[in-house]
Amino acid sequence: MAKISINMKSGEVVEPELIIGIDLGTTNSLVAYVRNGETHIVKDPSGKTSLVPSIVHFNLNGEVIVGETAKQNLITSPERTIYSVKRLLGKSYVDITSVESNLAYDIIDQEDQLVKVKIDDNFHSPVGLSAEILKYLKKRIENHLGREVSKAVITVPAYFNDSQRQATRDAGKLAGLDVLRIINEPTAASLAYGVGLDKEKVETVAVYDLGGGTFDVSILRIEDGVFDVLSTNGDTFLGGDDFDKAIMRHWMSENNISQEHLKEDKSLNQMLRIKAEDAKKILSNNDVYSSEDSQFSLTKEKFIELVQPLIKRTLECTDFAVKDAEIKIEEIDKIILVGGSTRMPIIKSTLEEYFKKEVYNELNPDEVVAMGAAIQADILAGNTKGYLLIDVTPLSLGIETVGGLMDPIIPRNSKIPISAGRSYTTSVDGQTNLKVAVYQGERDLVEHNRKLGEFILKEIPPMAAGMPKIEVHFMLDADGILKVKASEKRSGHSTEVKIKSQYGISEEEMGRMLLDSIQNAEYDMKIKSLLEAKNEARSIVLSSKKFIKQNSAIFNQDEIQTLESHIEDLENSLNGDDKDVVNSAMNQLNEFANPLAQRAMDYNISKALKGKGILE
Ligand code: AMP
Repeated sequence: MAKISINMKSGEVVEPELIIGIDLGTTNSLVAYVRNGETHIVKDPSGKTSLVPSIVHFNLNGEVIVGETAKQNLITSPERTIYSVKRLLGKSYVDITSVESNLAYDIIDQEDQLVKVKIDDNFHSPVGLSAEILKYLKKRIENHLGREVSKAVITVPAYFNDSQRQATRDAGKLAGLDVLRIINEPTAASLAYGVGLDKEKVETVAVYDLGGGTFDVSILRIEDGVFDVLSTNGDTFLGGDDFDKAIMRHWMSENNISQEHLKEDKSLNQMLRIKAEDAKKILSNNDVYSSEDSQFSLTKEKFIELVQPLIKRTLECTDFAVKDAEIKIEEIDKIILVGGSTRMPIIKSTLEEYFKKEVYNELNPDEVVAMGAAIQADILAGNTKGYLLIDVTPLSLGIETVGGLMDPIIPRNSKIPISAGRSYTTSVDGQTNLKVAVYQGERDLVEHNRKLGEFILKEIPPMAAGMPKIEVHFMLDADGILKVKASEKRSGHSTEVKIKSQYGISEEEMGRMLLDSIQNAEYDMKIKSLLEAKNEARSIVLSSKKFIKQNSAIFNQDEIQTLESHIEDLENSLNGDDKDVVNSAMNQLNEFANPLAQRAMDYNISKALKGKGILE
């Protein structure tokens, strides 16, 4: 039943709030909305397709062209036609060197280190280019609805870090959209399948997303209408294109076509690429592909043999995701397929065998993410009440502490939004400034992690080392954007920064960081315990020196000399790299100093009491 709201004062019919859902994809983008509980994906004016190629072309007249028309320029005018811009979002030049060699357009290294694309004498940022795609989608839905829209939910891969999410949000703003929420693609896909609608049910879902150029798999748990991404894994350079390439390589070897020949003969290359994709799609519904050139034919059996290694790679990622989620594979209730490449029946059958469960694929795999974004938008508009979405942070966030150690404040895989804090103090007497350096990663030493930013907490009132009470607080919001606040509790002085990392992190790098942390666990533990011992030793050296100064009248010369020589031994042990030597020097100093400390305390107490005249 349609609902109508009327403004009782003016008597006008109030339109229900409409928030749109956008799937901003690497290859294609889509826009969708929900009206009266029904999801609609907006098609092109001809009504043929809902996919807008995520391609931006700058023609010679200086006009910006987006979508299908832009795609037609990909071959004729590659240097003015930008594709795969999502791979560049929130990234620095260094991050994308591996991608760059595959791109046909110019990427330039600018001083601010953020990637830009050069066309003629103009520089275009990935945020600006993504904004062009979003503007096109906004226009498309406005034409379709006959009204303006200004609010949106945009999806991003679950592995996007905060700078990539922030870049997506900025692109929305630039396109004239108020981005109310950035949500994860697997979460959106689950919503499209109605997962979570039955509040009584606890469900665990695996979302397997194989697109044209990327693959990812996520494990979600849904309880009380709350969506929780338990883990995510994938390969950003594995997709349908690789299946096409496997067929091409087979035909090349069968017909003695060399790589060099193909490089020179661009039209043969193009013809083979198109034919290979065609063969792949035909084999989704037929047992044989035969073309007019009989040398380029293929049986389903051969195709399956050729793509086995690719499918195996996706299963390896799935193994990791299941392991990371700390669940048994039998605990997964539903498997949801996303991305055009999951139309291949071999994917479905392989997954059914792997999970030993039926796989859900009845919705259009190209449209599920946009559908879910629209459903989330409808929830935000207040039309579907009682749902909340929760995601996880893929890498730990923390700060650098003395000796270059990483102190995680928000551990990896924490549910977001989250807020967490910890107390610190100064290590030097009279210290008035404290540098707070924020890092992301799993290693024990910050030098092996990724620096997100730093700031200085100033005007700490001068106090003895260890006296100031400095609280560092991390707030990670639902979009994965981090705010860090440092405050000195005694003086109430505080500084707050929003961490918007300039240097994006690549998905490959994220995977590498996780792997590094596992492979180097033993080394890290050794270094960590050495640094911790040294930190403790340094503070003992400082306090022991202070102790001698304050109590020189109580001890005899011998005692002071022995104490000083123990302090010197401890200082010398700091030059080495042996934790046991540091610990033993520390023990010796403590052993000798403890009775002296006791004596000093007794003396000082009795002096203080005497002063008050109580012992009289
Ligand atoms: P996406 O990025 O999600 O749009 O996925 C596009 C990929 O899906 C491309 O590699 C297409 O070749 C592939 N694809 C689309 N339809 C089919 C099909 N029927 N069978 C196999 N692959 C397909």
